[in-house]
Amino acid sequence: MLNEKLVPYVRPGLSAAKPYDARHHDFAWRHPELERLMSNESPLPPSEEVVEAARAALADANRYPDSGEDLRGAIAGFVGVDPSMIVLGNGSTEILDVAIRTFIGPGDEAVIHVPTYAFFETQVRIHGGSPILVPMTDDFRFDPPALAGAVNERTKLICLCSPNNPTGNSWTVEELSTVLRAGVPTIVDQAYLECGYSPSFASLVLEYPNLIVTRTLSKAFGLAALRLGYGIADAGLVDVFLRIRIPFSISLIALRAGMAALADPDALEERRRYISSERAWIEDRLAAMPDITALPSDGNFVLIDVSRSGRKAAEVVAAAQAEGVLLRAMTAHRLEGNYVRVTVGTHEQNEHFLRVFDRSLRADTPASSRVAPAPA
Ligand SMILES: *Cc1c(COP(=O)(O)O)cnc(C)c1O
Repeated sequence: MLNEKLVPYVRPGLSAAKPYDARHHDFAWRHPELERLMSNESPLPPSEEVVEAARAALADANRYPDSGEDLRGAIAGFVGVDPSMIVLGNGSTEILDVAIRTFIGPGDEAVIHVPTYAFFETQVRIHGGSPILVPMTDDFRFDPPALAGAVNERTKLICLCSPNNPTGNSWTVEELSTVLRAGVPTIVDQAYLECGYSPSFASLVLEYPNLIVTRTLSKAFGLAALRLGYGIADAGLVDVFLRIRIPFSISLIALRAGMAALADPDALEERRRYISSERAWIEDRLAAMPDITALPSDGNFVLIDVSRSGRKAAEVVAAAQAEGVLLRAMTAHRLEGNYVRVTVGTHEQNEHFLRVFDRSLRADTPASSRVAPAPA
């Protein structure tokens, strides 16, 4: 509870603002014996070259890092745009925060399709804006006309995600272009782009200066703990973002590891292939199970509707956890009903998941858990 003498000083709304809930991560770190298939991490650790680059940077830990111009250049080459169109961030989350702060203040509106990544909504609220939540269609298609219909003179930002967490589907260039033509600043979060073969929207930034694409080294690249992401935007907008961003927000360790990761495009392709083939295998196996529906995914995760099994999502998650597998019940992303999300792990982890999941759909699975239930 905030000390009441401080209440008049804290900006209105902030002390009551609901933060992004990261308790499931803390829970997983306290229980290393459980398979972490709950937060869309890569099951593949970084390569020896990347680890070595990070380790070498530790020897210079008494110095401030440089501003990452070499990494910015390497990412620009990887993406295929000019370095002036790249802004680095402490995870792509920092770019999302900077972009939201750039456009959203008290009284402003941000149009967001739901279900999606919860951070958009929490951050818009924290900066005093109102999230306008536009549902996807009943069969989880994006709904560009509904999004366009939600735009008014207070709208300062549109937030989209492709591939979308948690539904797994992607925007097409045609669908996205109809949204971009409205001219409203539009973020497309492409955190999962390299986990599959869905379209990149980086080149559309040249045509639409209102488009901001965010990407990360946390997912397919497998560097979530290092916190390294970036935005791709019009050079003038990048210049504004650079004024707002915290200087030195990226550690030397992350900068050096990022350079090593980008120097090995074959390793990324191998990761993309591994994740994609494991995902396809999980999808095939799930398709053969009665009483559930798995949505086709371009990400490193699969969303599963368990409602026809008669089990609640929370029951399935608890039963899987009792057998050593962490999954996520999807109430967190404004998804009504009984949906469970599983992250694509190693082949062994995926096999373990499929065995456990099949049992968890039946009411006779043990209700007792080896550990206290994870927070929702
Ligand atoms: C995991 C995730 C992120 C987090 O990215 P960082 O680069 O690690 O900050 C961003 N967006 C979505 C949709 C995610 O699921």
